[in-house]
Amino acid sequence: MGRGDAAAHAVSERLRSLPSVERLAARLEAPHALAVAAAREAIEARREEVRAGAEGEVDLLERARAALSGAELPSLRRVLNATGVIVHTNLGRAPLPGAARDALAAVAEGYANLELDLASGARGSRQAHVEGLLRELTGAEAALAVNNGAAAVLLAAAALAGDGRAIVVSRGQLVEIGGSFRIPEVVAQSGARLVEVGTTNRTRLADYERALAGGDVAAILRVHPSNFRTVGFVEQVEIETLCGLGPPVIDDVGSGALAAGVAALRDEPPVRRSVLAGAGLVCFSGDKLLGGPQAGLLVGRAPAVERARAHPLARAVRIDKLALAALEATLRLYRDPERARREIPVLRMLDAPEPELAARAGRLREAIERAGGAAEPIRASAKVGGGALPLLELEGPVVAVEPGRDGVDALAARLRAGEPAVVGRVQDGRLLLDPRTLTDDEAEAAGAAVAAALAADAGDG
Ligand SMILES: *Cc1c(COP(=O)(O)O)cnc(C)c1O
Repeated sequence: MGRGDAAAHAVSERLRSLPSVERLAARLEAPHALAVAAAREAIEARREEVRAGAEGEVDLLERARAALSGAELPSLRRVLNATGVIVHTNLGRAPLPGAARDALAAVAEGYANLELDLASGARGSRQAHVEGLLRELTGAEAALAVNNGAAAVLLAAAALAGDGRAIVVSRGQLVEIGGSFRIPEVVAQSGARLVEVGTTNRTRLADYERALAGGDVAAILRVHPSNFRTVGFVEQVEIETLCGLGPPVIDDVGSGALAAGVAALRDEPPVRRSVLAGAGLVCFSGDKLLGGPQAGLLVGRAPAVERARAHPLARAVRIDKLALAALEATLRLYRDPERARREIPVLRMLDAPEPELAARAGRLREAIERAGGAAEPIRASAKVGGGALPLLELEGPVVAVEPGRDGVDALAARLRAGEPAVVGRVQDGRLLLDPRTLTDDEAEAAGAAVAAALAADAGDG
């Protein structure tokens, strides 16, 4: 027998010595189908390794148990966000304030007066739970909550111009807000006809006036360039001027700044200003800088809100009871601006004081160093994310982790696969962990996870 034949023989011997799927599955305490799937996964992985030349023994039972517990993890689960991106769309945007989590849990546990007026016993509106708050906080005559921001804009356009009439938009505002939300496509879907005015960088009052003179204009749409900025030779018409032109104005302000006294929100168009200017419908999201659950809010003039409420699309995009409960609780916090800044996580993160960030970074670093890892405190910039405040850099202390032998991508992958999963950002071959988007408890857990991942690296092979 030649040397090649001998090696091939050894490989097939090793493959033959692996247990059968059924035999391994029988040793797992789990429903039969799950046990078989986990055993098959462990054995298949080992077969691959053996074919690739692996020698020695591994504990297949332990591997099958690991596969089993992996399969039992929910698909959608908690992630520790160490990226420093506050409104991270891929990580679920705004974490909810405690009051909103409690409200949501209470409503989820049993039945609720979602559409029942408890005083009269008559049928009520789900909007009643938030309309008064939205009016109070924005100064609007009327308000409506729907499923998300995109739905709010679609409904607004459909309600005011969906019968094939014209909506006038500046060419500088024909924007894409991530994914498949493009203003021209949303307007087309609404059934309205888009009339573009001005140029990419400059649109003047006279451009709007010319379009209005053409007749049959049902609404003017203004869109906040949430996720980009134009600089230099640029001009747009202010909301007050647009509202004086006659047709109702739909103002898509994107994030919807409701908070007072948060310096970082300076460049966001305040909802109150648009309402005061007389906009027919001001549209904004619930889970961006407002810091609540996924939702779309429409506030403005009573006749315009009434048309949105009565449109058939309103039923298709209505808000569900869990989001509504969380939204009401979040909006209640805004009645006390100081409390809002303290208890709404997104606002807290925007405004986090340097000593608090430094202390949290210190705890992260200590946990890593205690486990024998190397981590250095550096300064770096966090981002708001979620297509908001694209120019804002929130500088602060960040922990840079030396990845160990396997390299930074392997460390990042190991952390994502862990429980809890940790997501950081990779920069110059190191993993950056930003304390701004972690709570104190989360920083402890993230530090422990990184320590464990580095130890696993050192222990491999
Ligand atoms: C984010 C955004 C939207 C879409 O809101 P979602 O809540 O993501 O559906 C619409 N318009 C603007 C200007 C935005 O920034």
